[in-house]
Amino acid sequence: MDPKQTDPIARRDFLKVAGLAAAASAIPLAAPRLATGAPMQEGGKPMPFELPKLPYAFDALEPHIDAMTMQIHHDKHHQAYVDNLNKALVENPDLAKKSIEDLIGGIDKVPDGIRTAVQNNGGGHLNHSMFWTIMKPKGGGDPTGKIADVIKSTFTDFATFKTKINDAGMKRFGSGWSWLVKTKDGKFDIVSTANQDSPWMKGDKPILGVDVWEHAYYLKYQNKRADYLNAWWNTINWDAVNARM
Ligand code: MN
Repeated sequence: MDPKQTDPIARRDFLKVAGLAAAASAIPLAAPRLATGAPMQEGGKPMPFELPKLPYAFDALEPHIDAMTMQIHHDKHHQAYVDNLNKALVENPDLAKKSIEDLIGGIDKVPDGIRTAVQNNGGGHLNHSMFWTIMKPKGGGDPTGKIADVIKSTFTDFATFKTKINDAGMKRFGSGWSWLVKTKDGKFDIVSTANQDSPWMKGDKPILGVDVWEHAYYLKYQNKRADYLNAWWNTINWDAVNARM
């Protein structure tokens, strides 16, 4: 039998260590920084993955998304995904060299012991890195360019497309995302993923995606996910979406 289970002193120490480990993973410590401000790993090398800067001010998407939500969402939630991804890859420098798309697209090749951590935190990093760029201050309006053509040819019109994206977000039980993806065979489809799963895990390229985790809307919209989804379209950056086509 495992001595940890029978020896009360060893067991107490084990619980203490387990408790500390749990606390450490729940509240990641701020990484030490290089002179450039970039996070540093032991030995002075830069961390493989970094939090991208938000391309506008926290309050730039008001009144549709409030400044406090943006600040916590970017500086705390996204930062935690980056920190925990880097932590998971400390013993796997070869994986840490990959692009985040390749890492998540090849999630099956990630070793068992860290696969869930990479899927959740790497997916979180990838999904949010896209999310910030497809929104902008004074966004919204009717789609333009190539995305407008795809919406018309695949989903009839913008109103129908919007309803389908919103429905996919509404039907996601718990936390996840609603997406427009381009599939491997070049078709466009609306899908939803759970938690921080990325469409790249199935080889689909995300063209646009809406975060429907409560952390994305709860401070302003509480339980009214539908109101958040409707308002979100006033932030969309169609030029950025077109650049992803
Ligand atoms: Mn989020």
